[in-house]
Amino acid sequence: MPAFALALGYLATLLGPLALAAWRGPAPRSPADELASGAGMMALSIILVEFALSGRFAVISRRTGLDATMRMHQLFARTALALALVHPFLYRAPAAPPPPWDPTRQGVIAHEPWALAGGIAAWLILPALSLSAIGRDALGWRHETWRLTHGALALAALGGALHHALSAGRYAAEPTLAAVWIAGSALAALSLLWARIGRPLALARRPWRIAALAPAAEGVWRLRLEPDGWRGFRYTAGQFAWLKLACGPFSIREHPFSIASAPASGDGLEFLIKELGDFTSRIGALEVGARAWVDGPHGALTIEGRPAPRVALIAGGVGIAPLLGIARQMALTNDPRPLTLVYGNRRAEQIVHADELEALAARPRTRVALALAEPPPGWRGHRGVIDPGLIRALFGAPEHRDTLFLLCGPPAMMESVEGALIALGVPARRILFERFRHD
Ligand SMILES: Cc1cc2nc3c(=O)[nH]c(=O)nc-3n(C[C@H](O)[C@H](O)[C@H](O)COP(=O)(O)OP(=O)(O)OC[C@H]3O[C@@H](n4cnc5c(N)ncnc54)[C@H](O)[C@@H]3O)c2cc1C
Repeated sequence: MPAFALALGYLATLLGPLALAAWRGPAPRSPADELASGAGMMALSIILVEFALSGRFAVISRRTGLDATMRMHQLFARTALALALVHPFLYRAPAAPPPPWDPTRQGVIAHEPWALAGGIAAWLILPALSLSAIGRDALGWRHETWRLTHGALALAALGGALHHALSAGRYAAEPTLAAVWIAGSALAALSLLWARIGRPLALARRPWRIAALAPAAEGVWRLRLEPDGWRGFRYTAGQFAWLKLACGPFSIREHPFSIASAPASGDGLEFLIKELGDFTSRIGALEVGARAWVDGPHGALTIEGRPAPRVALIAGGVGIAPLLGIARQMALTNDPRPLTLVYGNRRAEQIVHADELEALAARPRTRVALALAEPPPGWRGHRGVIDPGLIRALFGAPEHRDTLFLLCGPPAMMESVEGALIALGVPARRILFERFRHD
């Protein structure tokens, strides 16, 4: 789906109900009351859109990338929260039962406890939803627990808001708007059902098998998956997938990993997985031959469809995974564009596929710059982290202003590299990155 169609879809979902209310609704009241209703309706529209922006729909993340999708999710969530919180306080109309002279409630808002109950519940749940997302790390919950709680709270907030809109909303008395709210909420709930039932059913029909598993470097595993009885999926170098390993397709234990292989290398997929927490530190115990489930491809960290005369890939640590996939694809397809790969680690033992990187550096029009924060004696690469000095040395020439830069690594590295590139005059739209965080 083209990006502009997505943007139109968002706008239609966000503004459609407001437009419908203005068109089909009763005569307007005071500006404050109209603002109050508008804020409530807008909050509900945004909550509906949030279900599509969960980062789990490839049709969206392939267009905008996971990072941009999640930033939009966060921004929309905070906007919906602010609108919902001010909504009840903006009303100026008297909160009283409809007087005999106003049976159609032109002048009052519904205030029966039952009609307000859903709204009050949503009003209380929304801050909890946002705060538990913002402070996710501080909560210390397992990721799966947090995800289930987040989904359940979102559904509860939507249920409360819908109930409130239908039972107290002046504009939802108009059947078309009520139908829009009900249909939108049903779609949002269905998206969760799809994630829990539909998608696993689809995964179950397309199994994968662990073909190889071996250490790739200190604390990093190389995992190779082959499609089991089918051809595998088409992907673009640099994309990622959600893996379910050592569990069934319906398990909620799934983790995102970038595809480090190149599409041109065949149907199999390679992943580079760094030992980090309870799941990744047990990767080495997986059995070769075991079934695996792969939901993908997702993400937009790719050079496909982005014309540029030169490509630069800047990786820190395991951030090399998606960028290696791109470098491999460029090599396998004899991409004529000059390529610079910058790859930083702490120690030499952490460099993955060192031989392959050496072979890559020998290709025409290809530069490979390795950086080590703690270099061994005799190290011939860059000494230190990837910093603005190194970026200036490699990309200071004016022709690099139209180079396409792809960054993946620790947040501090990406921030400093992005700042250095922008200071060199590289436009922000030429700098793409993946944060390795889904929140
Ligand atoms: C788009 C993307 C691509 C990634 N590619 C790679 C890669 O190629 N190689 C690699 O080593 N790592 C990659 N990661 C990071 C990897 O997903 C996490 O390191 C891994 O899920 C941590 O799981 P854990 O239980 O071992 O660690 P924990 O210590 O439990 O978690 C560490 C952090 O990882 C995140 N995380 C944990 N579980 C999940 C989950 N189920 N879903 C989403 N995030 C989770 C949380 O932010 C958490 O704070 C990628 C992440 C994203 C979002």
